[in-house]
Order: sequence, then C-alpha cells, then structure tokens
Amino acid sequence: MSEFDLIRRYFTRPTPNTNLGVGDDAALLTVTPGMELAVSTDMLVGGTHFYLDTDPRQLGHKTLAVNLSDLAAMGAQPRWATLSLSLPQAHDDWLQAFSEGFFALAEAHGVELIGGDTTRGPLNLSVTIMGEVPQGQALRRSGAQVGDDIRVSGALGEAALGLAHLQQRVQLPEGARQTCLAALQQPMPRVELGLALRGIAHSAIDVSDGLLADLKHILDSSNVAAEVRYDRLPKPAFFASASEEMDVLAQDCVLSGGDDYELCFTAPLARREEIGVIADLMHLPLTRIGSIVSGQGCKLRAANGSVIKIAREGYDHFAS
Ligand code: ADP
Ligand code: MG
Repeated sequence: MSEFDLIRRYFTRPTPNTNLGVGDDAALLTVTPGMELAVSTDMLVGGTHFYLDTDPRQLGHKTLAVNLSDLAAMGAQPRWATLSLSLPQAHDDWLQAFSEGFFALAEAHGVELIGGDTTRGPLNLSVTIMGEVPQGQALRRSGAQVGDDIRVSGALGEAALGLAHLQQRVQLPEGARQTCLAALQQPMPRVELGLALRGIAHSAIDVSDGLLADLKHILDSSNVAAEVRYDRLPKPAFFASASEEMDVLAQDCVLSGGDDYELCFTAPLARREEIGVIADLMHLPLTRIGSIVSGQGCKLRAANGSVIKIAREGYDHFAS
C-alpha cells in the first residue's frame, strides 16, 4: 500500500464544512464571522503515553479525545482537525480500527479531518484541532477571582487507577476495572460542558496532568491561591470500600494521577444555581471542591480543617 493509498483509504472522508479538505498542499476553511479560531495540538507517543499493544480503535478515539478536551477547556466548538502519523508499518487491520475509533468520535462532535502528514517511524500520533468561539468569550486560565468556587466535572483518578491495575499495582474487582479502564482508554471530552460554561466560568482548564498540577496553572495565571477540601473530591467508588492501606494510592490517583480529561473551573457564587441546572441537564456531577483565595499556591484540607501534606514528591510547593 502506498502512502497515498493509505491516506485515501483510511483518512479521507467527506468534509462538507470545509472549502478544501485532504488532497492538496493545504486545506482551506472559512471561520464563521464573529468567531475566533481556537487552535491546539496534542501528541501521543507510543511507549510514553500508551502501551504499544493498545487496542487501535481505543487509540484512535483517545488521540482525538485529548485534543477535544483542550478545546472543551476553552469553551470552543470543535470544527476541524489535522492528523500527523508516524507508523512503524502500515497494517490494514490496525489502520482500519484506528481510523474507525478516530472518526466515530470526530463525527460525534462534528469535527472534519482536513489534512495531516504520514511518515514511517516510531509510533507517534499528533492532532492539531481547530474550533470556534465567539470573540472574547473563550474560557482562559487567567480569569479566576478571589471568592470563586472551584469545581471539577465527573470523577478524578479513575484513569490513573486503571493504569495502576494494568501495572499490577492494584487488583480491581470487575465493576471498578471496567469503569477505570474505560476512563483510561476511552475518555469522554467535556465539550458540551465547556460550551455551557461560556459566560459563566471565570476560568477553566482540562485535567490532563492531575488536579493539583493543572489547578496550579489556573492559580499561577490568575495570580491567586486555592483552598481545596480533599474529602469533597469526587473519587473512584472503589476507594470508598477499600482498606486504609489504599489511602496513599487514592491520594496519588485523585490528586496527581492525570489522564482524567475532566474540566476544572472557577465561577462566582452568584452562578451556583445555573451550574446546578447544567449538571442536572448533562447528568454530570460538577462538584464544588474548594474556593479561590488571595495569595499563592494550593492548600489541601481534610474535613476537620487540618492541612494535608501531599505524599508524592514533586508537589512540595503545594504543601505548607
Ligand atoms: P505534502 O507532500 O504536500 O506534505 P502529503 O503527501 O504529505 O502532502 O499529503 C497529501 C495530502 O494528504 C495532504 O492534503 C495532507 O494534508 C493529507 N494527509 C496526509 N496524511 C494525512 C493523514 N494522516 N490524515 C489526513 N490527511 C492526511
Ligand atoms: Mg506531508
């Protein structure tokens, strides 16, 4: 199979909302008047971000999902994507499954694949995603204000717990295993939530590197501090019934696990009711985990108010 057969067979689909799609030296597109173009790139490297034997359909999904998550965090409507692939070899079954996983998620969000690049090399998957957001309405990291509630969507730590299971650091029972492996391999980017939070949230970020690390980006960009209640964090159900020996793993997964692809956002108290309505409509918990305060850094507290030291090294600057 030639490079061009490969592109035609697996990565060329109709693009009705694009002036010119795959097949020329560049794609041509028209941005809707009054909209800003939001552009983001995320790369998944085989052996670093995923195991090389990962199911290709799930990999196709995840390659796009991590990019959609970035647009969700900006409150942008996804429109177009390019896909750059470095592949050790061109296996039909692998390409078929990968492209099916990719396009299933793309079609669910109205995203058109309009170009890319294909080369031979170590397995490497990179997407550039483009979306639209009304002028001036994008959700930024820099807008958090003292007094804001801090919220997080869905549950934290499930993907990290799924990874811990694959690495045999924990043995999950059937139900938890399914939930956590699905969270790891097929994350559902919170695109609709990002759109609903336009004009409501003061700041937002997607949780890809762990809650503490990503919340810190909001705090640094906004020049504020946070008080977060550990007992209020939405944790995997597995930990509710797990032994105390699991506390270290629970803290690690929930606070610094990464790969959650949930949204962490801040919003003023006056918006609590609207946020409650959004959560109900979307059947998605939007848990209030703390507040923005003045100062620097993030203080993590237990239910009784005592400060919790962060166990994992590398997050010292959060402890105080
Ligand atoms: P060029 O030589 O000009 O870089 P290529 O031969 O790399 O062009 O690509 C030919 C066409 O196929 C271009 O329109 C490019 O955007 C598209 N393309 C290449 N790889 C992919 C891919 N993996 N997915 C979608 N489109 C692709
Ligand atoms: Mg090229």
